[in-house]
Amino acid sequence: MDQTAPTLRHPEKAHRPDNPVARKPAWIRVKAPVTPEYRDTHALIRRHRLNTVCEEAACPNIGECWAKRHATVMILGAVCTRACAFCNVATGKPAPVDRDEPDRLATAVGELGLAHVVITSVDRDDLEDGGASQFVAAIERLRATAPNTTIEILTPDFLKKPGAVEAGVAARPDVYNHNLETVPRLYPAIRPGARYFASLKLLDRVRELDPSIFTKSGLMVGLGEDKGEVLQVMDDLRHAGVDFLTIGQYLQPTPKHASVDRFVTPEEFETYRTLALAKGFLQVSATPLTRSSYHADDDFRTLRAARAARLQPGA
Ligand code: SF4
Repeated sequence: MDQTAPTLRHPEKAHRPDNPVARKPAWIRVKAPVTPEYRDTHALIRRHRLNTVCEEAACPNIGECWAKRHATVMILGAVCTRACAFCNVATGKPAPVDRDEPDRLATAVGELGLAHVVITSVDRDDLEDGGASQFVAAIERLRATAPNTTIEILTPDFLKKPGAVEAGVAARPDVYNHNLETVPRLYPAIRPGARYFASLKLLDRVRELDPSIFTKSGLMVGLGEDKGEVLQVMDDLRHAGVDFLTIGQYLQPTPKHASVDRFVTPEEFETYRTLALAKGFLQVSATPLTRSSYHADDDFRTLRAARAARLQPGA
């Protein structure tokens, strides 16, 4: 873990009143991570001094994913320059960029034997390119050392820094993921440092630059949005040509974070999945525990097969 991570993870939230953390329904409960395979993954991540979003975001799926050696590495350190109301990643002044990180990432991915890797990062609004060159370096190192591993990047919006998205696309990841996170009405409260239409435009730009790259985006529900707003986001994403949509339940990491408005039922998730597929997404994952990188390897194979089927003559 990054030794520069501050002890007070969210200083900007310290003086906010507490929001009680609601008890999770039965369908959200997950098993504690205790398997030997989990411990091996943990040891490997530590040995290579990498950060993971699995740990930093307190992901509920860590026991399952790490038992399968599926870890999502978070590059550019463990400290984020933004302070979103939903996110458990530490906020503050980040350390300088670690130029050896892409090498360690590539070595770790080789040791984990991943067929598909997801790489994400903190927001680095302090950097001239928003951190895009570190994504490029990571992709280049991975292509050199693990040519059979497919690569998915989950990037921030790079604060619209000129050339950042273009650099990421030119490095040719297999999947370019950028999450909208929530419906536009809730941006000022939940994602105040970002702009909904800038994120949509980013996804549209990726498709415009290289339509062979799959595009993907994700939403959290249970933050106070209504169904009509979720359907509108689906339409916006389809308009931007996005291929793959993920929808999962928002979980409140600490009493200082935004409250869960409600727990969306598994049946409602299934309805969202059906509606999204009807709107033309190639692939949709919508369950309470869906996260951007959950089952990303299997989902990538399904996604590729879905595009191939759609391109068949007569399809
Ligand atoms: S769902 Fe993604 S972030 Fe969560 S543990 Fe699995 S790989 Fe990590």
